[in-house]
Amino acid sequence: MIKTQAEMTQVPGGEHAFAQALQRELARAASPVQPSRDTLLRAAAAVCRDTLAQRWGQTQQADAQRGPDAAVRRVHYLSMEFLMGRALSNALAALGLTPTLREALARQDMDLSDVLERESDAALGNGGLGRLAACFLDSFAELGLPAFGYGLRYQYGMFAQGIQEGRQVESPDDWLRGGNPWEIHRPDIGYAVGFGGRVRVEADGTRRWRPAEVVQAQAYDFIVPAHHSERVATLRQWHAVAQAPIDFKAFCEGDYAAAARHRVAADALNWVLYPDDSTEAGRELRLKQEAFLVSASLQDLIQRHLREFGELHSLGRCNAIHLNDTHPALAPAELMRLLLDDHGLPWEEAWRITRQAVSYTNHTLMPEALETWPVRLFEALLPRHLDIIYEINHHFLAELRQRHPGDEDLVRRVSLIDEGGPYGGERRVRMAALAIVASHRVNGVAALHSELMVQTIFADYARLFPERFHNVTNGVTPRRWLQQANPALSGLIDARIGRGWRQDLTQLAGLKALAEDAALGREVQAVKRANKEALAALVRRELGLAVSPDSLFDVQIKRIHEYKRQLLNLLHVIARYQAMVADPAAHWVPRTVILAGKAASAYQMAKSIIQLAHDVARVVNSDARVADRLKLVFLPNYGVSLAERIIPAADLSQQISTAGTEASGTGNMKFALNGALTLGTWDGANIEMAQAFGEANMFTFGLRSQDVAQIKSLGYDPRLYVQQNLQLQRVIEAIAQGEFSAGDSGRYRPLVDQLLSRDPYLLMADFADYLSAQQRVDALYQQPQDWARQVLLNIAGMGGFSSDRTIAQYVERVWSVQSLR
Ligand SMILES: *Cc1c(COP(=O)(O)O)cnc(C)c1O
Repeated sequence: MIKTQAEMTQVPGGEHAFAQALQRELARAASPVQPSRDTLLRAAAAVCRDTLAQRWGQTQQADAQRGPDAAVRRVHYLSMEFLMGRALSNALAALGLTPTLREALARQDMDLSDVLERESDAALGNGGLGRLAACFLDSFAELGLPAFGYGLRYQYGMFAQGIQEGRQVESPDDWLRGGNPWEIHRPDIGYAVGFGGRVRVEADGTRRWRPAEVVQAQAYDFIVPAHHSERVATLRQWHAVAQAPIDFKAFCEGDYAAAARHRVAADALNWVLYPDDSTEAGRELRLKQEAFLVSASLQDLIQRHLREFGELHSLGRCNAIHLNDTHPALAPAELMRLLLDDHGLPWEEAWRITRQAVSYTNHTLMPEALETWPVRLFEALLPRHLDIIYEINHHFLAELRQRHPGDEDLVRRVSLIDEGGPYGGERRVRMAALAIVASHRVNGVAALHSELMVQTIFADYARLFPERFHNVTNGVTPRRWLQQANPALSGLIDARIGRGWRQDLTQLAGLKALAEDAALGREVQAVKRANKEALAALVRRELGLAVSPDSLFDVQIKRIHEYKRQLLNLLHVIARYQAMVADPAAHWVPRTVILAGKAASAYQMAKSIIQLAHDVARVVNSDARVADRLKLVFLPNYGVSLAERIIPAADLSQQISTAGTEASGTGNMKFALNGALTLGTWDGANIEMAQAFGEANMFTFGLRSQDVAQIKSLGYDPRLYVQQNLQLQRVIEAIAQGEFSAGDSGRYRPLVDQLLSRDPYLLMADFADYLSAQQRVDALYQQPQDWARQVLLNIAGMGGFSSDRTIAQYVERVWSVQSLR
């Protein structure tokens, strides 16, 4: 039986057993007498992992006994990304072992945080989408949901970002170098996944796919503990190995390269997330990775279902297959293939099961970001899947033509195949169309996003299948993003409203009544001040730059993307700098503007923004006239662990995407939870946050999504805004004339040209209002008591943004048996 929190003894045998196990692990180390921090880290992780492995067995046993009538289906969360970050600190907290390890280390004259720091981040994701999946695993465990996350075990994850002469340089992130003490290899779990080859039609009309290449998928489990029960969640990651590791004949002939060809081809699937898709080879590899993830995961699901129930009829009723964006949208085609070809089910039965099982979350409204693949690539790599997609499309379009006779334009718009244009556009498979047609539920990730989704990119489908479309607003796990990242603030909250918020974040509402308590406000700001000092120390260590913890820490950390508008932030920094230089004697609220984020390796404009940030920083930070009153900091290699350091130290959280472009955002939630005020547009989850804690307690500015749409439809001319705004003119001129690039006026020409011609994200239109919002920020910061009151009201209003709430809503709206009716 799984114990509840009340019955829990944290770890079987208690703390003493942990200390003993740790000693046993250390005794195995190369130098057990004076173990290094890495050795201590591995030993502590190994001990935690053994306990988690036990809990894994108990959890699986409990789930297997649920029977066919369970109200909640077992969830299979398919995602190409899981941005897990570090694991030890979370595991220790969940197992209640943090103090024990701290004391054990103290006896070795070591600091717990020094050991925790040695763990490398599991950075198997790009940004928000991958981090969301990681928060969901935490909530799966916490809510006791029978669930598996499925992903790939990338050897180098995303790239590591370095900065050389102000430019981003990418290098492989070798996170597995020291071994991964967390993963549990499952040598008994493996599946064959095919690519290429041909489909033969047999005498009886059945189709047989003979792949040209077969790769073996091996399972590695990463176990995520609940904090308030002994349940765990599993992230099962697939690792590819060649079926025939070496070509023995070629080997004997001395041709070692040829002998290893299969091996290298299989291994390439494990190398990195998002091979640069600016090349054909990169795109092909990416599609293979997607197919590999989907096939191995679904074979695993079918095998488990057969083991538990002995039949496939109930598969869709008992299992949910969730697509985190369209990256795993091959899943319905692969499930159909497995059910039809391997298990001999008739089409209608296989389709019914598939539709019951599959659901899909959309993460972007930008039409150009919707995933499509050339039919040609499918023919070469996944010929049987293409067959099945054609067949699904045939059924779908036939039904459509019955419902809407004569509307061939509609058929063309919603078809799973983009037929290409008369101008040589090639035929492509539309993955979102496949995901929608094959799902019983489709959801957006914030209220505005879900609304716009059915009004814009998916309007046709929403008219055809209105019952499928829902909203489930994102959330973040309070265990990592408050308890772990900000122990001092957590302690303060505990002292005032108790510890229950970790499990039920809505309890934060208890702080609302205390918002006027000036003493509490001062305590909260004292905690903030200490966190800022720690971050200032990190900045000094990393960049050799002194920043004052007395200044307002103004933070924007996230992927670098034009729609997120880091450039607008830089325009403000430049405007402020120019104003300070023009009037150095005036009273200026000191600011430290902090940026972090990676740019996709082929995304030139984003890389140019990173370079501009460094150029501006060099000029501003060395200008004695502004001195301590303005600093610009770019912290390289943004990731989960860096976010955990920066967010608790932020006074201001910049969430300034063009309205209608940021699906939800989750960074915005982490900041507010940690007592930063938000400077934000009316976009994504900013809106719901403002509604939760009061619009008066957020600095909002800018065009709203309907204004953006209107301005664009009327023909937007950014130059008009520049002409009317002297300050904006000076800022643009300074960049254009090379004031930050040592006179090199060519460096930012593409960037400036775009701002003055298309300005697709309306920076020029929002600039003036952004600057006046920045003035409101300065004004409030000078009223510490009012600032602190708003901070408390922000925290108090964040109860609804736990990923526990998000997952509870997925269960209710998407994954319950109820949702199938
Ligand atoms: C939360 C988080 C994100 C998402 O940030 P947004 O501001 O919502 O884009 C990206 N990367 C990391 C490491 C995160 O922790």
